[in-house]
Amino acid sequence: MAYYCKKTVADIDCAGKKVIVRVDFNVPFDSEGNISDDKRIVGALPTIKYLLDKNAAVILVSHLGRPKGEFNMKYSMAPASKRLSELLGKEVIQAKDVIGPDAKAKAESLKPGQIMMLENARFHKEEEKNNPEFAKELASMAELYVNDAFGTAHRAHATTAGIADYLPAVSGFLIEKEINFLGNAVNNPEHPFVAILGGAKVADKLTVISSLLEKCDTLIIGGGMAYTFLKAQGYGIGTSLCDDEKLDYCKSMIEKAEKLGKKLLLPVDATTIAEFPNPIDAPVVTAVYGVDSMPDDRMGCDIGPETCKLFAEEVKNAKTVVWNGPMGVFENPILAQGTVAVAEAMAASDATTIVGGGDSAAAVEQLGFAGSISHISTGGGASLEFLEGRDLPGISCLENKDRKIVAAGNWKMNKTPSQAAAFIKELAEAVKDAKNQVICAVPFVAIPAALEAAKGTYISIAAQTMDYHDKGAYTGEVSAEMLADLGVKYVIIGHSERRQYYNETDETVNLKVKQALKYGLTPIVCVGESKDQRLAGVTNELVAYQVEYALNGVRDDQAAGIIIAYEPIWAIGTGLTATDDQAQEVCKAIRDTICKLYGKNVSSVITIQYGGSCNAKNAAGLFAMPDIDGGLVGGASLKVPDFAVIANS
Ligand code: AMP
Repeated sequence: MAYYCKKTVADIDCAGKKVIVRVDFNVPFDSEGNISDDKRIVGALPTIKYLLDKNAAVILVSHLGRPKGEFNMKYSMAPASKRLSELLGKEVIQAKDVIGPDAKAKAESLKPGQIMMLENARFHKEEEKNNPEFAKELASMAELYVNDAFGTAHRAHATTAGIADYLPAVSGFLIEKEINFLGNAVNNPEHPFVAILGGAKVADKLTVISSLLEKCDTLIIGGGMAYTFLKAQGYGIGTSLCDDEKLDYCKSMIEKAEKLGKKLLLPVDATTIAEFPNPIDAPVVTAVYGVDSMPDDRMGCDIGPETCKLFAEEVKNAKTVVWNGPMGVFENPILAQGTVAVAEAMAASDATTIVGGGDSAAAVEQLGFAGSISHISTGGGASLEFLEGRDLPGISCLENKDRKIVAAGNWKMNKTPSQAAAFIKELAEAVKDAKNQVICAVPFVAIPAALEAAKGTYISIAAQTMDYHDKGAYTGEVSAEMLADLGVKYVIIGHSERRQYYNETDETVNLKVKQALKYGLTPIVCVGESKDQRLAGVTNELVAYQVEYALNGVRDDQAAGIIIAYEPIWAIGTGLTATDDQAQEVCKAIRDTICKLYGKNVSSVITIQYGGSCNAKNAAGLFAMPDIDGGLVGGASLKVPDFAVIANS
């Protein structure tokens, strides 16, 4: 799910509304009871401030610690409220209960622009059980639900998921940011992509090891979990941590890496101690051994100096690095050197660097490297589950972004530059209140005049084709860079007339799509079948093939923004039109193809138009079909009144 397809608070009207926001204020405290790290509170500020600026009445809910379903003021949200109040410079009203009389009365009288905090949701055992009655009670206090608690997004609890059954549900900016970073890193990484896993147990990271191996170029394994891998390779590991039940699993991962041609890097030496320190930060005497000469009575508790160099070198050459889990018993400063070395290498790197929450995030922060890391996740468990490719219930339950209806006019070889300017001005007046997004694809020479006339209006200008080369001896052609330089936003690619008269093939369509994206142009990719192909009953297969070919090598965040236009060639210029149902069937087949290629999130937001003799009479019916998001309009786009009707359909 790299492309973030969920509505955020910015996509809805929250002015004056009561909004219940799930935040993750599960903050740590020092021995004197002060909040020792307020990162999670700070992380939620953009969403909270946005809502307050919009004059929403904000009701916050969170959990803190493990009160086990009972009211226990040791776990009260009050200190977090106080800290938030300091950060906002504004009163945060603290309720005495969660769904009790005090919370309800305070929520009832909360005014727009005010903010309150409910008590710890885990004071009720119903929270973690995702009890619907409890969720309903919470929902009854508000008109909208916002989830911005990334740290608990992997849990299906009443405040993280259940409540979305009773209120319109959208995400906050923190969740959006987390998913954008983590998603891009794993689904569209810049290579070399290095993933680093550490921590105590192999068992905790089974799925993530396997799924990261498929995506990364190098998988580095350190920490306690490395010893099970080393034993699987036949090394003696002394008294180091080992999960004998997972030896076969480790062997299979080593084989998987070989088969996929991926580098799996394990420690080559270890910093060892005689026995585990108690307390954990007690002084220890260490000795370094190569992994091939580890004595039986020594315990590996950190990666050794050679391994530090090896791992740091790999990080240095990477373009994307994701790290989760310490390299040793980092709670003890003597055994923290491996963790420090990895943190340092990441901080010094120009790559996109992501630290996946939990211990590694704490280590990076304690060491003062936080400012040099691209993204430190606020969720340890959640980020791990996301990296594994699992659905996070706290995010799945939120509403997808709406698809826009797009009315795109293809003028073909009609209208001179001066006619274009006059037409755009007239059209702008006629569509100024249009419901749909309006695009005019004009002849190359008319683009500057059309762009000028469209300034300050809702009309965007498209080109009707382009060349796929960067530049050079291609007489008469126009490049993506030239179009982008003019300010063009869209370009039609693979129109049936280009395919028919100018040798456009699936291959050139694909090259052009990638070239357009490279220069920030949105391709309107045309696919469709001839009369013979329809009669042969191969329509759906054919368009699926065309779509798959056209998008070969296109990343999912790019695909999500593309427009696909289904043009039944038999219906172009013949006056024939596909019926609403025929058009819907093919557009659905296209959406299913996108789903197969990129998953549900991209397929639910991508724009799919119908483009075969779409006119003022049939537009409303076609655009009302569930998988048709507007039209690529030919002849009817040349007359202002007709196109205005389509823009409003
Ligand atoms: P995890 O919760 O799986 O991320 O593991 C974090 C814990 O692993 C930390 O408390 C570390 O002290 C511990 N750890 C890391 N390396 C080792 C090791 N070689 N032996 C024992 N414990 C380790």
